[in-house]
Amino acid sequence: MTERDTPATCRRCGICCSKGGPALHDEDAPLVGGVLPMERLMTLRVGEMVLDQPLGKVVPLVEEIIKIRSVPGATACALFDEKSKACEIYEHRPAECRELLCENDERLKAMYDKDRLCRRDLLPDDHPLMEIVEDHDRRCSPRKLTSLARRVTEGDQAALDEIGRILAYDAELRRMVPEKTGLSPDAMEFLLGRPLDLVLAGIGLEVRHEEGRTVLRKRPVRF
Ligand code: SF4
Repeated sequence: MTERDTPATCRRCGICCSKGGPALHDEDAPLVGGVLPMERLMTLRVGEMVLDQPLGKVVPLVEEIIKIRSVPGATACALFDEKSKACEIYEHRPAECRELLCENDERLKAMYDKDRLCRRDLLPDDHPLMEIVEDHDRRCSPRKLTSLARRVTEGDQAALDEIGRILAYDAELRRMVPEKTGLSPDAMEFLLGRPLDLVLAGIGLEVRHEEGRTVLRKRPVRF
């Protein structure tokens, strides 16, 4: 099929939806809290290893992004209904979904890394949760975890202990914030980013807790 033959509109085949949800851009901000509640979103933080679709390779993120979550244990966008091959919010679908056409991804490529939303856009400075978000980022940053993980693979026990403390702090915060704020536990992937075991999985390490000890094992990277 030539570019000239390319359909000018989405055929609603669902193929792109089955590969994953979109990142959100400035123009999608009005959807957040409406058709896109926090519970449907996740934050990928600076330093996390992610698949850059236009580049077709896994790279560390240089800017935070907010994405629609995937179906647990699968790649499909959580708003995609596999049976009917339909989007739950098609009429209000985010910018990336509107720009991507199956046979021609030029429009998506042109806007892919521009004006991406981050938590700071949605939780302004004076928002009561911003302090928690920033403290969590300082203590549990993916870059810090990557650096510690490298030391662990060289046999550094102190680095392993530090990862254990970071994992415990992160788990406690994810338990405590919903309790204190009334937010759903499902909102934590937006507020605090992906669980740290997934962040570590992205750099090829599996977290296990064995007889009261934190153990990290090398594993193939999956996205
Ligand atoms: S938001 Fe809708 S159109 Fe976009 S990837 Fe998800 S299911 Fe597909």
